Amino acid sequence: MASNREQKPCIGCEKGVATCSGCEKHFCLPHFTEHRQELDKRMDEVMHEHDQLLEALKPQGTVHPLMSQIDTWEQASIQKIKDTAKQAREDLQVHLDCSRDRLTDSLGNIAQQLKSNQASTVYTEKELDEWLRQLKQMQQTLEKSPNIDVIKDEEIHSSIHMIKVLEKFSTEEHLMGNKAATQSELASTSMSISTGSFISHFMIDNPSGYIVNLKTPPMKYLSN
Ligand SMILES: [Zn+2]
Ligand SMILES: [Zn+2]
Repeated sequence: MASNREQKPCIGCEKGVATCSGCEKHFCLPHFTEHRQELDKRMDEVMHEHDQLLEALKPQGTVHPLMSQIDTWEQASIQKIKDTAKQAREDLQVHLDCSRDRLTDSLGNIAQQLKSNQASTVYTEKELDEWLRQLKQMQQTLEKSPNIDVIKDEEIHSSIHMIKVLEKFSTEEHLMGNKAATQSELASTSMSISTGSFISHFMIDNPSGYIVNLKTPPMKYLSN
């Protein structure tokens, strides 16, 4: 540090008498006053930044972008589930229609046998029991569709990826306080903070997609 005797001249007019402790430049009194005015102007700018941030911190009608991100994920996931359910319903309907068609054919065959046997009167208890057994079996198939099932699709892990919220540790946020941190404080604090994150909370369990599955090959009632 230079002594008063070795004072360097003003950067504006070569008549230096004062040194700014911030920028360590030398000034005469008028230029020092001018320098202070420049600093006052910068102070106003800092205050303006502060006021703007304070305004932005106030609760507003606008939705936070991260909140929108969750909304978007929710809508997309719901759509995927709806699409899967729609596909499963359509597949199920196809299987039900096929099953119904086969039952109708089988019932037609039995009707023919009943008609011809009734006319020729050659039937016995044996035939009657067999026809009754077949009719009851068809009734069950119609009511419960035992050859069709809705199962979890284990082959597709899940087309929906669950989300969770993470809080990322930040040196900058940690240091926010009433007084500004000095460079040495910044250095020491950043050394003491370990980086990492923790899970804030989990979303619901991972739902699997559903598929319509045929458990057994279609049953044949009468071959004729
Ligand atoms: Zn200065
Ligand atoms: Zn000067």
